[in-house]
Amino acid sequence: MQTGKIGVTTENIFPIIKKFLYSDHEIFLRELISNAVDATQKLKAMASAGELKGELGDLTIRVSVDKKKKTIKVSDNGVGMTPEELDKYLNQIAFSSANEFLDKYKDQINSIIGHFGLGFYSSFMVSDKVEVITKSWQDKAKPVKWTCDGSPEFSIEDAERENRGTDVILHIDKDSKEFLEESKIEQLLNKYCKFLPVEITFGREQEWKDGKYVDTGKDKIINNTRPAWTIKPSELKDEDYSKFYRELYPAGDEPLFNIHLNVDYPFKLTGILYFPKIKNNIEIQKNKIQLYCNQVFVTDSVEGIVPEFLTLLHGVLDSPDIPLNVSRSYLQSDSNVKKISAHITKKVADRLNEIFKKDRAEFEKKWDNLKLFIDYGMITEEKFYEKASKFALFKNTDDKFFTYEEYEKLIRENQTDRNKTLIYLYSTSKTDQYSYIEKAKAKGYDVLSLDGQLDVHLINFLESKFKESRFVRVDSDVVEKLIQKEEKKESKLSEEEKNDLRSLFNVRTKSKEIFNVVVETLDENEAPVIVTQSEFMRRMKDMSALGGGMNFYGEMPDSYNLVVNPNHPLVVKINEDLRADLGQKLSDNEADTKKVKEEVEFMEKEQGKRKAEEIPQVEKDDLEKRRKDLSDMEDARRSMLEAYGAENKKVKQLVDLALLANNMLKGEELATFVKRSVDLL
Ligand code: ADP
Repeated sequence: MQTGKIGVTTENIFPIIKKFLYSDHEIFLRELISNAVDATQKLKAMASAGELKGELGDLTIRVSVDKKKKTIKVSDNGVGMTPEELDKYLNQIAFSSANEFLDKYKDQINSIIGHFGLGFYSSFMVSDKVEVITKSWQDKAKPVKWTCDGSPEFSIEDAERENRGTDVILHIDKDSKEFLEESKIEQLLNKYCKFLPVEITFGREQEWKDGKYVDTGKDKIINNTRPAWTIKPSELKDEDYSKFYRELYPAGDEPLFNIHLNVDYPFKLTGILYFPKIKNNIEIQKNKIQLYCNQVFVTDSVEGIVPEFLTLLHGVLDSPDIPLNVSRSYLQSDSNVKKISAHITKKVADRLNEIFKKDRAEFEKKWDNLKLFIDYGMITEEKFYEKASKFALFKNTDDKFFTYEEYEKLIRENQTDRNKTLIYLYSTSKTDQYSYIEKAKAKGYDVLSLDGQLDVHLINFLESKFKESRFVRVDSDVVEKLIQKEEKKESKLSEEEKNDLRSLFNVRTKSKEIFNVVVETLDENEAPVIVTQSEFMRRMKDMSALGGGMNFYGEMPDSYNLVVNPNHPLVVKINEDLRADLGQKLSDNEADTKKVKEEVEFMEKEQGKRKAEEIPQVEKDDLEKRRKDLSDMEDARRSMLEAYGAENKKVKQLVDLALLANNMLKGEELATFVKRSVDLL
């Protein structure tokens, strides 16, 4: 029997292993089984190279738990190790690489947990003693047993083993009893080993017989050695992809379609990505992409490896070229990772383009489920935008679809304003903005439906991409002004009368929103009063609500325009009533105002001819007084009109109707409106 001390000075490696990797003890099983798979694959490689003669025999890897002896055993029939190899690999190389690994990453231990690097020595995270019984494939090899009890002392002695291969036996320590539960091991095998390329057995196949499950005597194989992503796409049918999806996510909804990735150069990457149905809420994406390294599960958090928008996809990626035992920030700057990420982005865009080209109707049918993904990709990845802008769709309020290019052609003629800016009209709610949409359509405009979760961002983004274009929500102004053309409308009322109407309709002074009354000459068939909200203001508030950093706007009260149409017969009538009721007072005020105004203007002109110091104080005071008189008269007129408006049922009714059309009339105001309507009838 040979005994010795593992040839590294650090005596405390095992305590370190246990302590630092505390939260991820379970990876030991993955590491041991990976080694067993490697040993088996090496054997197969040698056999096919002709270095090994004879039958390979059963190559199954067996995992077993002995609860009484408190052991877990992983057995393979792979290459095995000669006593010299055992000493070299386990005592020298494996130990020192485990040590080096910990040394290197102790500062960022959290980020590497769950990733490769610790290998065989991770078994000490759960064991107080580890035995390795191994026999090399080479002729006349001597079976040997290596034992180590968790201190750097080990022993190697002769052992019994009939066939080539290796048994690793872990004596589970008292803190790790959970790993002696079959269900726990089953769960770990399912997580890490489900797609390993060599058959692995654990437990027995069970059968339902006479009202209970009984052992069939057959070993239960826990893995699929040929998962779909390792098979050539030409050999797979649609059902195979669906079946594989279900293997990955037993509870997942049927995906929309898939992309099979297969790259050899300049890096190795295979995988299948699935497009799930994403209706809304980006945060929810329960079926994460799983990352494998030569069919060994590594992680299901791929952030930093693929662009963020791709993390909305499902499926698997397998690449031996992604460095896994490094921190996330390092990953993002790794050139291989960058290339992989760019490649996947390109493939995803190409695949979408292919589906779009091949079957546009089908693509349109799936658009609602794809939109969020594609929009997110375009906004966040320039390269994706370059491709996706050719097939991304706009949906209008009639549920018709257009590519960006098609849509531009559609609206170019009719929706270019006098500044040559192309105006994209959109609606965020077909029901709430129904009347505005109808009016825009009546004018021959087209209205987009942009009611998605990301559309506020998309609009801003597209405005930065499209030349001389602007997006305007359909209710952000009266239809005549949404797209400003050269034409000018004749007003039925004079400038003075229009001015008076502004005061008359100023009846919303007590609301918490700000209402700015504007009198806008519109068609007489247009509504008498319309509520609009400026595109700019609303968008700033939307952005602030989405956390876009526009907090200043978020805190401001909502402000709206109350647009009065002086050409509408009802407004004309209100104006007539006003003249009939207050005519005398108004014309008196007007005459007085006119007189004072002339005086003020005259005095200003006279005084303007002299230097300030040459003007006697009395004259200055006199001008000041007349100015004050003028503003008092104007105020008096305004108050008179506001008081009249406040009492005028028709004015109130028209304003309330406009609010009602915008779904803004609530509570007591709504009740008052209903009552007043009945009275008026
Ligand atoms: P790694 O697998 O990353 O090389 P490990 O510490 O897990 O590092 O293993 C060290 C070495 O021990 C392996 O490279 C291999 O040569 C040898 N080894 C480990 N397990 C087995 C096994 N089951 N059969 C044959 N050789 C093994």
